[in-house]
Amino acid sequence: MNPVAAQPSISDPEAIAANLEDRTAEQAIEWMFETFGESHYIACSFQKTSSVTAHLASKVNPQARFFYLDTDVLFPETYETRDRLAASMGVEFDRFHNLTLEEQAAKHGDELWNRDPDACCGLRKVEPMRRALSSVDCWLAGVRRADSASRAKTPKFGWDKRFELWKLNPLADWSERDVWNYIHEHDLPYNPLHDHGYPSIGCTHCTKPVGEGGSPRDGRWAGLEKSECGIN
Ligand code: SF4
Repeated sequence: MNPVAAQPSISDPEAIAANLEDRTAEQAIEWMFETFGESHYIACSFQKTSSVTAHLASKVNPQARFFYLDTDVLFPETYETRDRLAASMGVEFDRFHNLTLEEQAAKHGDELWNRDPDACCGLRKVEPMRRALSSVDCWLAGVRRADSASRAKTPKFGWDKRFELWKLNPLADWSERDVWNYIHEHDLPYNPLHDHGYPSIGCTHCTKPVGEGGSPRDGRWAGLEKSECGIN
């Protein structure tokens, strides 16, 4: 799909993307609201970067729209973080969900995450993500270049070919220290699993703590080639 045809209000996306590279996260988020109005959706996984993006976006625009993907196998600490962020920032997180675990087992067999994690992520993450993004023109993610080698070239703004809409990554150039400095300076709630060896947090079945010197995403699908769930 031609991105210019898909979103006429973006007349020179390459120039805009270049310009956004020099803006702060807050300025980039302000630009998103000015450009797309209500037609935006901010994805939250309730990891550390969600604390930052939820705070920045709700400060800039009290009507900011947030959503999350509920796989039914998130950590209890993740659900608690969702509730603490909602209470502290006065925002709502819209829940997107696909089939129940029982329905998945009946259709695809037990423990699909062990036998075919790509298929499991497709059902429990990609499908509800597609529904969440189907009615907006731009989504916002907390992806950072420092997360992993595969994310090292993440632009702050660009066309998301997979979901066919614009995507803003306002924290793309933030370091780990930048994230924690922001959280502590603003006394934000954050997922307590980060204090217990989990630099990256996904589903309970597919996330392990990372030892000293490991890469931040080593605990995701540990031991498998898989490093992404198919939404970023
Ligand atoms: S991270 Fe694991 S449990 Fe979660 S959707 Fe993907 S394969 Fe399934």
